[in-house]
Amino acid sequence: EGMNIQEISKIFHRDASEIIKKLLLSGVMANQNQALSKEVIELIALEYGVEPEEKVVVDKADLEIYFEDNEDEELLTSRPPVVTIMGHVDHGKTTLLDQLRHTRVTEGEAGGITQHIGAYQVEIEGKPITFLDTPGHEAFTTMRARGADITDITIIVVAANDGVMPQTIEAINHAKAANVPIIVAINKVDLPEANPDRVMQELSEYGLIPEAWGGDTIFVQISAKYNQNIDELLEMILLVAEVEELTANSNRLAVGTVIEARLDKAQGATATLLVQQGTLRIGDPIVVGNSYGKVRTMLNDNGRRIRSAGPATPVEITGLNDAPQAGDLFVVFEDEKSARMAGEERAQRAQLEQRDTKKKVTLDNLFESLSEGELKSVNVIIKGDVQGSVEALSASLQKIEVSGVRVNIIHQAVGAINESDITLAAASGAIVIGFNVRPTPQARAQATEEEIDIRQHRIIYNAIDEIETAMKGMLDPEF
Ligand code: GDP
Repeated sequence: EGMNIQEISKIFHRDASEIIKKLLLSGVMANQNQALSKEVIELIALEYGVEPEEKVVVDKADLEIYFEDNEDEELLTSRPPVVTIMGHVDHGKTTLLDQLRHTRVTEGEAGGITQHIGAYQVEIEGKPITFLDTPGHEAFTTMRARGADITDITIIVVAANDGVMPQTIEAINHAKAANVPIIVAINKVDLPEANPDRVMQELSEYGLIPEAWGGDTIFVQISAKYNQNIDELLEMILLVAEVEELTANSNRLAVGTVIEARLDKAQGATATLLVQQGTLRIGDPIVVGNSYGKVRTMLNDNGRRIRSAGPATPVEITGLNDAPQAGDLFVVFEDEKSARMAGEERAQRAQLEQRDTKKKVTLDNLFESLSEGELKSVNVIIKGDVQGSVEALSASLQKIEVSGVRVNIIHQAVGAINESDITLAAASGAIVIGFNVRPTPQARAQATEEEIDIRQHRIIYNAIDEIETAMKGMLDPEF
């Protein structure tokens, strides 16, 4: 009570002008510095989906609250899609990313110096598409493990002479676990031994069925090296983007995610940010992960200095007191003082908490998590020595049902438990089962670090029994 619009706009992280406009639409005239009555404040709270009875306590250092999706429909406009390229090693991911960048420079801003900042934009038919410049699913899933879901569309590259390989399947499962639409690029169709039909056949076993065969997955046959059908691929991306109805409000303080960051001797901390909502401007007070500062310089993917950047635009900024980490969130604040306070608070909390913030899913806490309703299904990754036992184990696990909760196999494959499995487990809250296989030493170390539960078995029945017992809460005699 008695607060003015300036103060309220900070609480809701909205522009004062937007609040004034909303009040006007409800028939209330107000200026920025005028103290408002309780009734009017309640009206504003209601507009933003807050029950007036609840006391509005905002933890300003909790960056996630600024990402809450309560944008007013009429403020939303369409934005470019953000695309990640995944696939098996040597199938042409890097070549495709280079080709796309190259095509853009020659067609568009001739003479522009492309600069690696971790992401770039390509234009087709005057519409931009943002590509993350790190091929492979490790980057994709590492970001997700840190809480950043920034990819709208995934391109899975499969070489037409090689077909579906282990990392192709990993990539598919990583994309599926993140619920991101997939476009398949069958690459290297210039090679005489290319066999696109075989690739389609193999992929249909993983639920990726071309439209011509009655499915709904888009396949594009390309040659990344010889620049064949790349435009068609870009058009398909726009098509999927249109279906997804990607929108953002460019008219608010910016929020988004860190793509890359480093400490530079000359410039101090630099970070590539992907703006997700709002417009980022030179001079903005900003909190980035556990660091803070003021946007001092801003470069686009062409190495040009720019003054502002809207949704889905990647930019490299300087002006932070410390280097954040890829996957960290950033939020622009109204004023420097609150940015500094929030930033310092976050750095302090990070020191205190270190890591054990996110509760890891293990067989020991499974029952507890299930009964508290935190988990709706039990995510499992299966690795085994032969295809037959992986499939048998997978089929049996999927038959388990304990009070409405089932097992969800997010990835299964033949081979040792590798680092990619652990990253996926961390991002998806999964338990890893090794059937007659072990983790690699690196995967073992990473699993310890990330507190991922790995269970090794030699007898299928034991593996099934262990999961079922844990789901029933009978693993530990205490229960
Ligand atoms: P990545 O490991 O998936 O990033 O694969 P690369 O982009 O490094 O490509 C691996 C090899 O395949 C390189 O020698 C490329 O020149 C070659 N390559 C990539 N795309 C094509 C293509 O369309 N046709 C042919 N013939 N070779 C390609």
